[in-house]
Amino acid sequence: MHKPLKKIVIVGGGSAGWLTAGIIAAEHSTDAVSGIEVTLVESADVPTIGVGEGTWPTMRSTLKKMGISETDFLLECDASFKQGTKFINWQTNTNEYYYHPFTLPRGFNETNLAPFWQPFRDKISFADAVCMQSHLGEHDYAPKQISTAEYDFSANYGYHLDAGKFAFFYKNMV
Ligand SMILES: Cc1cc2nc3c(=O)[nH]c(=O)nc-3n(C[C@H](O)[C@H](O)[C@H](O)COP(=O)(O)OP(=O)(O)OC[C@H]3O[C@@H](n4cnc5c(N)ncnc54)[C@H](O)[C@@H]3O)c2cc1C
Repeated sequence: MHKPLKKIVIVGGGSAGWLTAGIIAAEHSTDAVSGIEVTLVESADVPTIGVGEGTWPTMRSTLKKMGISETDFLLECDASFKQGTKFINWQTNTNEYYYHPFTLPRGFNETNLAPFWQPFRDKISFADAVCMQSHLGEHDYAPKQISTAEYDFSANYGYHLDAGKFAFFYKNMV
């Protein structure tokens, strides 16, 4: 007979450990009687890797699922919006750049825009031709307005955050 899992031990209280604990707690009951017991073990002697972290946009749904206020997260973890990745000097080393934006080309499921862009490839990058996100990044625009609801967006985004502050922030929430 398959015995249901009742206890989980997570070793390490960095961003990976606390995110794992938060996701398990959000997806399963941690009720004292019938739920899963989650124990997170931290070491006072081993420091965290201690670097900033850039996330994919899926981090938004993870944080939402964990019941975290986005405003608190942004303030407490020194987080900022990440709208894509800018690759500088990857092709010709002449100060050129291209973007991997987080917003997909509009209507990409219906139409492949690449053949329409190809004749103009020397004039404009694919990202600039098919989506607005590199323009937003270049002009320091946010992916949402102050009135946009937490985790909603006008342009897709993830975050850059202080991973050490995130572990501290979440630990103090639970
Ligand atoms: C320069 C650099 C840039 C990076 N950029 C990114 C990025 O942009 N995006 C991204 O996703 N990732 C990035 N990473 C990777 C990312 O930072 C790490 O993968 C992530 O922080 C690791 O989190 P962690 O919780 O696994 O480790 P840590 O934050 O180091 O936490 C490990 C935890 O385990 C504990 N521990 C260790 N040994 C024991 C033990 N024996 N018993 C109990 N506890 C123990 C420590 O005390 C600590 O709390 C980058 C890494 C580097 C070095």
